[in-house]
Order: sequence, then C-alpha cells, then structure tokens
Amino acid sequence: MDPPLASLLGAAPFLHSLVDALGSPLNVLLPETIAENAERFRAVYRRHHLTGRVYFAHKANRSSALLRRLAAEDPAHVGVDVASPAELRHALGCGFTGDRIMATGPKDPEFLWLAARVGATVNLDSLRELDQLAELVRTYKLGRADVLVRLSGFESVDGHGGAGTRLLSRRSRFGTPVREVETVLSAVERHADAVTLTGLAYHLDTTGLAEKGRALERCVLLMDECRARGLAPRAIDIGGGFGVGYVAEAEEWERWTTALSEAVLGGRPPLTWRGHGYGLRNEGGTVRGSVALYPGHRPHAGPGYLDELLSLPAPVLGRAPGTLLLEHLHDLHIEPGRALADQCGLSLARVLDVRPTGEGPDQYLVRLGMNAGDVSLEEHGVLVDPVLLPRGGPEDGGQGPVGVHLVGNLCLEADLITRRLVFLPALPRAGDLLAFVNTAGYAMDFHAHRAQRQPLARTVAVVGEGDSWRWCMDEDYWPITHPGGKPV
Ligand SMILES: *Cc1c(COP(=O)(O)O)cnc(C)c1O
Repeated sequence: MDPPLASLLGAAPFLHSLVDALGSPLNVLLPETIAENAERFRAVYRRHHLTGRVYFAHKANRSSALLRRLAAEDPAHVGVDVASPAELRHALGCGFTGDRIMATGPKDPEFLWLAARVGATVNLDSLRELDQLAELVRTYKLGRADVLVRLSGFESVDGHGGAGTRLLSRRSRFGTPVREVETVLSAVERHADAVTLTGLAYHLDTTGLAEKGRALERCVLLMDECRARGLAPRAIDIGGGFGVGYVAEAEEWERWTTALSEAVLGGRPPLTWRGHGYGLRNEGGTVRGSVALYPGHRPHAGPGYLDELLSLPAPVLGRAPGTLLLEHLHDLHIEPGRALADQCGLSLARVLDVRPTGEGPDQYLVRLGMNAGDVSLEEHGVLVDPVLLPRGGPEDGGQGPVGVHLVGNLCLEADLITRRLVFLPALPRAGDLLAFVNTAGYAMDFHAHRAQRQPLARTVAVVGEGDSWRWCMDEDYWPITHPGGKPV
C-alpha cells in the first residue's frame, strides 16, 4: 500500500462511521490518486520525449469521482476510453469533451452515432463497423469522424528463435486481423468523405512484453504503408494491460505459490476451500496444470511496464519502440484501466458472524455483509488479504494468526469471497470491518449484482485534509474548491 491508502486504513474509526451510516459493503475511492497515476504515466512520456494521450479505460471502475478528477487534468494529456453508450454519456457528463474520448469495443449504431456526433475518436472494431459509421455520417451529416483501425492477430518472425519461429499473438475476438489490414485500409479510402484515419490501434490481453513489443513495431511499419497509400495517420494506440503489482515482494508471492503446490500434493494442510488448486492438480504425486492467477508480484507494472516496453529493442528493426515513435513523430496513445486505478480505493465489509467450519481444528467461517460479486478478486485471480479493523480499536492480541474462510451473504455454496484460507492477526468479531485494499480496478463494481436483493455497495470519494478525511458520495464529487473549503 502506498501512503494515501495506508493512512486511510489508519483512520479506522472514520471507516467504521462510514459503514455505520452507509451500510456494508461500501467502496471508498481516492480521486487524487488516479490523477497522480496519470502523472506517472506522463513522466514516462516525457522521458521518451513522446506526445499523445493517456485514456483511462472506464470499464475498470464505474465511479464518477475518478472520471471527473481525470477530466480536470490537461486536455492534451488525459482522455477517457469508453466501451458503451452509457459510459460515453457518463464521460461527457463528467466534463470530457468529445475530442478527449476514445470509443472502443464493438459498437451498435446508436453508440456510433453519438460518438461521431460529439467528435469522439472511433476505435474501429471491424470492417462492418466502419461501413456502418460511414453510412451514419452521410445520412445524418455528422461531419467526418476520426477513426483508428484496431488490429489483432499479429504475426511476426522471431529473430531469436533460430530458424525464424512463427509467433502469433493471442487470438482475439476484437479488432481486424493484421492479415486483413489491406481490406480495411481500402475501405477507409473508399469512405474518405466520411472518416479520417488518425491512427492504428491494438489491445492485447497479455502481460507479455515481447508480444506487445512485436505488435508495436508492426504498427510502426504499417503506419509507413498507410502513408505510402496517401493516408495520414498520426497516432499508435497500444491499448491497456500495463498491470498492477498487488504484492510488493517477489519472495512473498513465490512462497505462497510454492505452498499451494505442496498443499495440492498433500504435503501440508490445505490452503484453500476444500483443497481447490487454482488450476493445479495432483496426478499420481506430481503437480500438473498451471496456476490460473493474476501474477501477484510483477517486476514491471503500470508506468514502469510502459517504460520497459518503450525501451526494449524491437525484433525486426532492432531499435527501441520509444525511439521509433519519436523518429516517426507518431503520437502514442495508451488505454490503462487497472494500472490507473492502482491504489485508488478499498472495499469495506462488516463481519456478520464467526463460527467454526466443523471441517478442521482452529478453522473458522467468517460471514461478511458482502458477496463475491462485491469484491470480485477471485474472478480475476487476484490474491489480496483483507485488513482487519476491529470495532473497538486494536484487540489485545496474543491469539496469533487465525485461518479463516470468508463467506458472502448469498445462500449459495459457491459464494466465497475468496477460496483461499485467509490468515488474520486475530479472530474477528461480529461488528468488526474487513478492508480489501486496492480494489478500484475491476474488483469493485464490475461484477456487482442484485441477487437476493442484497444491497449494492455505495461508493464514497474521500480527500485527505491534514490529519483527517473529508468525504462525499461518489456522484456528488466535483474536482473544485468551494469557497471556504477544500474539494469535496
Ligand atoms: C479492458 C480494456 C482496456 C484496459 O485494460 P487494463 O488491463 O485494465 O489496462 C483498454 N483497452 C481496451 C480496448 C480494453 O478492452
């Protein structure tokens, strides 16, 4: 935890009073932190002398406070990536003008119409979408729309693989396969009265630096081809996926994954609910399979990952992508979701009940006023232990770590907040709070639902003020200072 989040956790009475007033579960966001994260990405741009925009991938969090805080940043530097008509309307309402908005993902005609109407850049998902957009522009006299062509299925020859190994990037349902790029560029030319090609784009759902480096270099080469055809694209949009390091120490992460393997083999007591292996299984005394978990510790994440990507020599031209972009005077656009939301918030749950599991000595079930949809760490394979905030201040201690299973508020056997055995410093009591930190990227509201009519979490924005915190409902936050008061 970085300081703002860490010091917020130190304010346990404040967090208790928020949950007393607003109920459990409760999401708490730090809008200042997302602006600081954007600034860290900008610092990488400056180091590489690059221009272009950081577009926040809105889907990582529904918050208004986060969007409004980013809208207050320099329009030339920070924008927003929207993937639905509702996200587009929300971004406009939060203060983003159309020219700072990138519309991604598959789009229906209403979404295309509104994006073109407000002058957003349309990140084209398919050829069909391009045809539809061009027709809408003509029919409704919308003015020429800026478009990026999103590419996928990058293929390249790996120079280091000896006899030129063919490497294909991850298959994707989104974007146009690179081998069909000619067709799309011809269509762009055909629709020149309705669209302007401003760049090429990709978004690869991988942590692999080499794979992304190859795609970026390929785009640089394709930009030359576009120019040779008389098109004038200026930007390469390399999507998101810069990632977050949830665990500070590599060793800590290795220790846990090793222990999981041992537990799967029966060499130590289970670390998970009913021996779940997170993808690992015991086949006659040997561990098989692979761990389906988000890499908890990452040597490069967020801005550091971007820096690394721009610095590693690319396979064909042998130069760093950062240098290639600079020499060609291309703008670089990025669309970080998770990485911009890093350290931006936490999710709170009230402890409702504590009792023995009946399945082993000294193991307990802790039932929370929240369910697996409210803090969907498990969905993404993110292993973050909650922090215990006792109701009456710190416990006397002495008990030592206690292994507990965290279960949710649904009448569903599968409603476990995490399938891991979580070790808390002491056995919690009804009324205590558990704080799940760093949940703002995807873990907060992406999977939230209304099953059993359980309450959806409310979300508050908090801003530090000296030693104390000011708060307001997420929807009431604006990034301005009122006369006689601080923001919020
Ligand atoms: C989801 C998504 C992102 C954000 O990905 P992160 O891993 O959160 O950075 C960016 N661009 C597109 C097109 C996406 O679908």
